[in-house]
Amino acid sequence: MSVVSIEKTKGNDYESIRAAVRKCIDDIGGLSDIIKPRYKVLIKPNFVAVPDDRCSGGVTRWEVVKAIAERVKEEGAIPIIAESSVAGVDTEQVIQKCEYQQLRDEGYEVIDLKKRKITKIPVENGKVIDAMTTWDLVAEADAVITVPVMKTHDQTEVTLGLKNLKELIADGQKKYFHSHGVVNGVIDIIQTVKPVLSVIDATFCQQGLGPIFGETVEMDLILASKDVVACDAVGSAVMGYEVDAPMLTVEAHSRGLGEMDLDKIEVKGETIESVYHRFKRSSEVEIPGLPPYTLLFDEGACTGCRNTVISALMDLKAGGYEKYLEGKYVVVGPVKELPEGATKENTVLVGRCTKHLEEYGRWVPGCPPGNVFVVQGIVGDAEEVGRRYSDEKEDDIK
Ligand code: SF4
Repeated sequence: MSVVSIEKTKGNDYESIRAAVRKCIDDIGGLSDIIKPRYKVLIKPNFVAVPDDRCSGGVTRWEVVKAIAERVKEEGAIPIIAESSVAGVDTEQVIQKCEYQQLRDEGYEVIDLKKRKITKIPVENGKVIDAMTTWDLVAEADAVITVPVMKTHDQTEVTLGLKNLKELIADGQKKYFHSHGVVNGVIDIIQTVKPVLSVIDATFCQQGLGPIFGETVEMDLILASKDVVACDAVGSAVMGYEVDAPMLTVEAHSRGLGEMDLDKIEVKGETIESVYHRFKRSSEVEIPGLPPYTLLFDEGACTGCRNTVISALMDLKAGGYEKYLEGKYVVVGPVKELPEGATKENTVLVGRCTKHLEEYGRWVPGCPPGNVFVVQGIVGDAEEVGRRYSDEKEDDIK
């Protein structure tokens, strides 16, 4: 039976967080079965982007990572803390802003993967990719530990241990995922890398427009499991989701990568009910100050596209492009026909499901598309809104 431990931290200082991490690891049976002496253990935090405040719930805290690295060392193994921030973000800036330099000063390796040598790892039976475009350290690791932050996500409902490993691929391939399927792409990575442990930093979390612009929620929790799928299932239940709502959990479970049935998962420490907090979804975030427009969600539209569009509207406003939304029809999901008033000039068709209507509007490819492409679809040719993703040619990075 898969085991997930949930521990409440007694404070926000390092010693309190260390104690909770250690208790969680003890409750799931220690590390000796998954970490052997001299193993190179890649510890993968979430350094998504440079936060205003390192405790805003966007980025994994060093306290959690250090406590894990310590335990890895106690097994006689070599911890290597490594991450690549989202495309277009300088990982080193996140390292500095989030105070990871002190771990370096103590002798831990904290590495910006983007500065390492690119290599490929074959993906057997991948649904989106046949090889990961990654870095030497990932290919050489004997074991991978995923250390996410508990957050909602505008495309995948939640981002926990599974989604966190998407950043193990190079920027160009991340972009490729947005046009060829984020969910299956991420699970292609999981089945290749086979993470041995998930430790969720749920001290400060994000709700609403996670994973970057969300609202901070203090939960004071650590969750851990050797079954990464079970850890996501329990984590999302704590956040108030049905376990089959996050598409990543469902896909990983369907590929036999772990358990998602809560009746088949033993939860140690706190219960789900005792720490339950319903996280606000992206789609529940109100965006004041937008001009009149029409948003058409087909009932078959996935949460991924729904949340992406809401998040893109936030980006649109933040970028000062909201005037381009006036009078537009933004269409999402497998609609059969367009509403009266929608014309080729005022209609934006979002995602692969609207491709059949391509000739009746401005089509934004992707499944779901990245936010920036939706914003560009709304703005049209009037302005270049800037790219969050790299401009590498897709052929080079598949
Ligand atoms: S393009 Fe269609 S299938 Fe893909 S996320 Fe959007 S609604 Fe879902």
